Amino acid sequence: MTLMEKAEERFDPEQVVEEFEELTKVAGKVQLETLKKILEENGGTEYLQKWGLNGRTDLESFKTCVPIASHQDLDPYIQRIADGESAPILTANPITTISLSSGTTQGKPKFVPFNDALLDSTMQMFKTSYAFRNREFSIGNGKALQFIYGSKQLKTKGGLAAGTATTNVFRHPKFKKTMKAMQTPCCSPDEVVFGPDFHQSLYCHLLCGLIYREEVQVVSSTFAHSIVHAFRSFEQVWQDLCVDIREGVLTSQVIVPSIRAAMSKILKPDPELADTVYKKCMGLTNWYGLIPELFPNTKYIYGIMTGSMEPYLKKLRHYAGDIPLVSADYGSSEGWIGANVNPELTPEETTYAVLPNVAYFEFIPLSQIILNGQEARPVGLDEVKIGEEYEILMTNLGGLYRYRLGDVVKVKGFHNSTPELQFVCRRNLLLAVNIDKNTEKDLQLSVETASRILSAEKLEIVDFTSRVDTSTDPGHYVIFWELSGEASDDVLKDCCNCLDKSFVDAGYVSSRKVNTIGPLELRIVERGTFHKILDHYVSLGAAANQFKTPRCVGLSNTSVLQILSGNVVKRYYSTAF
Ligand code: AMP
Repeated sequence: MTLMEKAEERFDPEQVVEEFEELTKVAGKVQLETLKKILEENGGTEYLQKWGLNGRTDLESFKTCVPIASHQDLDPYIQRIADGESAPILTANPITTISLSSGTTQGKPKFVPFNDALLDSTMQMFKTSYAFRNREFSIGNGKALQFIYGSKQLKTKGGLAAGTATTNVFRHPKFKKTMKAMQTPCCSPDEVVFGPDFHQSLYCHLLCGLIYREEVQVVSSTFAHSIVHAFRSFEQVWQDLCVDIREGVLTSQVIVPSIRAAMSKILKPDPELADTVYKKCMGLTNWYGLIPELFPNTKYIYGIMTGSMEPYLKKLRHYAGDIPLVSADYGSSEGWIGANVNPELTPEETTYAVLPNVAYFEFIPLSQIILNGQEARPVGLDEVKIGEEYEILMTNLGGLYRYRLGDVVKVKGFHNSTPELQFVCRRNLLLAVNIDKNTEKDLQLSVETASRILSAEKLEIVDFTSRVDTSTDPGHYVIFWELSGEASDDVLKDCCNCLDKSFVDAGYVSSRKVNTIGPLELRIVERGTFHKILDHYVSLGAAANQFKTPRCVGLSNTSVLQILSGNVVKRYYSTAF
């Protein structure tokens, strides 16, 4: 082992905090240095040459020459890389790996470049937030029950490896070293993480967690949805898990040879453990506090819990009992943005402190009146204002320049001189029939309000999505709900009216009043429908742990629309207006 590798294996959290403090004290300066570094390294690429930067690395030239770009604008370049062209197209060093971004809204994964620079920023992000978490919830030598899954590893036409960004990270030896240095290696062997079948991997993650139940100190996943999904599955399979532990033999339902071989090294007959788990499960009421019962030394539960993950928090809290929930960092397949350096905050209060050396960031102010259809000019990280909402642009060493990530964030404060961002929603409008504009956040709030009617009936929404139906005249909103049990028609009619009334956008309300938008339609889908949607995305190459339920299904997303419409069991129309 080289000295460098040894240093990587041990890291001092206090030193990481110190480095972060130094960087964020001069965030504006670090941003300019970061931009300079990116432009120096990649000035000779076809893309930057095309925009006439001619080797200049200053901010003014950069902003004057290089246009703001969407994924669509960069896609032809990325496609050529994926097809095997090795010339410096977007980056000076050849890109050898492609990440598949979840692309849940469009219905098909997007290609984005992945390279060592992105991996390094991932490790910097993980270490930074860990260092702050470690101050709040110090963990000793233990294990993490991580519901993580590798996606299928595909090859592009040009022979480049393509997998989801998380898979590219999980596969890398540096990831394992970092996890080890954080004293929380994963309970499950690699064969389980990278198994070809998500259901079999999930079952074995649960089994490994139970085997190491006393050692588990952290329960985590990339997005909180996977943790909720895992414990919902546990409710179904817990007795099978007990049998496996009692007999020391893995269920015949797990058929992947590599998983069976790896599990046989861990699983030994343990009737005592089987009895303990059995008794604990029998003693719970409606599975409340399941996680602390099963894993009594868990210090916190960790995963992205903001944005489209908020609807799962209620269920997660139910399983978590009094264990704190800590949201993981803010990033995307395209690159990282900010770390959660205030782990004591609840997920609802979480903000992300921008790491000023992982990319050059710009912020398009969204509140300013846009004259003649023009967007406001983007501002730098040191020019943003508290309370304002912005769309983020990123320029990074992964070959993206002034790239629209599509996310809306709100500045809540500053950590030294770097902004602390709250995630608001995806920018692309979700629901719009005519003059109405309802975002993912508006939909989420409306569903949350209506779900209170269900809580009184001891029912919950397992998952939800929506679409605009313009095949009727006038067009109207359709909301799909999967419920945890049966609700009466009266209750669901109330829910449907409540949903309709809870969209407070002036365009929507006025259109509903004059019937230029028709009554909102609530469609109840069969149990397991959203599971089928998850399976569908996994079959396309998505990784289950990067999955985000699409909150609005576009017309082009025919497969998901088919799954939804094929599973509708009841429908209701609002009479609220
Ligand atoms: P992916 O396509 O899987 O790379 O997902 C990236 C997207 O996930 C981001 O652009 C955000 O919309 C969302 N996301 C990532 N991190 C967070 C976070 N901490 N809070 C809310 N949303 C997030």
